[in-house]
Amino acid sequence: MRVFTAALATETNTFSPIAIDKRAFEASLYAKPGEHPATPTLCTAPITVGREVCAQQGWTLIEGSASWADPAGLIARSTYEEMRDEILEQLQAALPVDGVVLGLHGAMVAQGYDDPEGDFLTRIRAIVGPDVLVCAELDPHSHLTAKRVAAADFFVVFKEFPHIDFVDRARDLWSIAVRTLKGEIKPVMSVFDCRMIDVFPTSKEPMRGFVNQLYALEKSEPDVLSLSVIHGFMAGDVPELGTKMIAITDDNAAKGAALAERLGRELFAMRGTFMVAQVDEKAAVDAAIAAPDGPVVIADMWDNPGGGTAGDATVILAELIGRGISDVAVGTIWDPIAVQICMAAGEGAEIALRFGAKSAPHTGSPIDQFVRVNRLVRDAQMRFGESYAPFGDAAWISFNGIDVILNSTRAQSFDPSLFSAMGIDPKSRKILLIKSTNHFYDSFSRIASEIIYCAAGKPYPNTPATTPYRKARRDIWPMVEDPWAR
Ligand SMILES: [Zn+2]
Repeated sequence: MRVFTAALATETNTFSPIAIDKRAFEASLYAKPGEHPATPTLCTAPITVGREVCAQQGWTLIEGSASWADPAGLIARSTYEEMRDEILEQLQAALPVDGVVLGLHGAMVAQGYDDPEGDFLTRIRAIVGPDVLVCAELDPHSHLTAKRVAAADFFVVFKEFPHIDFVDRARDLWSIAVRTLKGEIKPVMSVFDCRMIDVFPTSKEPMRGFVNQLYALEKSEPDVLSLSVIHGFMAGDVPELGTKMIAITDDNAAKGAALAERLGRELFAMRGTFMVAQVDEKAAVDAAIAAPDGPVVIADMWDNPGGGTAGDATVILAELIGRGISDVAVGTIWDPIAVQICMAAGEGAEIALRFGAKSAPHTGSPIDQFVRVNRLVRDAQMRFGESYAPFGDAAWISFNGIDVILNSTRAQSFDPSLFSAMGIDPKSRKILLIKSTNHFYDSFSRIASEIIYCAAGKPYPNTPATTPYRKARRDIWPMVEDPWAR
């Protein structure tokens, strides 16, 4: 057997001010054929798992290029087309192949392309023809368009959010692919449109129980090969936005359709109950002051660079400054220009500095303070699970008992080590203000006396009922109260 694999992935927040081109992929991951490292990034596990699987089977794995860019705004049209065509040419050169196993994300949007993955998969199908297996791993924060479903045989989606299972799901993907290529099964994909959009953290109920149910059904139900939820991605203004339920069966479309519908309607019945409680900046600061001891973690949950925002909002910081509160550490505010100025001034310098809130509306105003530059670190990084996440050249500045880390590579606040990397002991501060929606929880909960989820300003389109979409469908909940009444 000859199997082709490649990866092309990013998550596009179409409302983000951070437009990207090929440099964003080169900064995160861009590997030519055979040059992908041994450890996978989020969307490239089909390549590393494929190496193991094909070695075991004695099959030939032909690797194409692999790229991943951290979430941001629209991709330049020429960048998408160049990266797509690079892989298509590699596939053409690899023919004949028996299967194509891809690492995608599913929420890419490029200038001129609302559905890049649909375009990519359709072109792949045209090259290999109708009888070659085409499958991909997806992130649940994606758009399951009709074009993608038509072009691919099946998709396997991360079940967990945070996405701790991306390698396990790549194993599922390959397991189904291997059994298919050996002629043991005939996967058929059934999709149910849940007619909703929501955010579904699996670290808490009710989504924890729902996902556990999927694992159990995959084990117990005859003919069921894989069950996935496409959460949907509300920051991608595309026509087919929304939550979808996928069931893959062994040639039992009727059963798959019935199961996808039953599970999809179960999700719909729980709409609006999945997210954590959120407070505004005033209530967040009140609660932090009232806490008997620290560190209280305030998560600026919607200004999360991991969701494609700039990460430079100042709404909560301005509230803290306005109320004269000290013993605060802020990690981080993205401002490469302010970092350059601090670098020029040098450690120990005292300067008038303007920083933050320069990228997008509804994120507060730039902060003007007379600051001390305490520490400068080139290529700073924080821990992220077993690996490291870079946040670029960074400056620790302070004023009025408030410490702020300014960074130059956008990164969400994964881990308290972002403070220690700059010389700040996070446990010694009463209040830690960070930027992350969900991924921070595991590591910060170990040091926090309390965690406050704060929705401040409007850095991210997190209320779909009122988000000014231009392209997204409006016939789903919560844009309409009852999407089934038609
Ligand atoms: Zn995701």
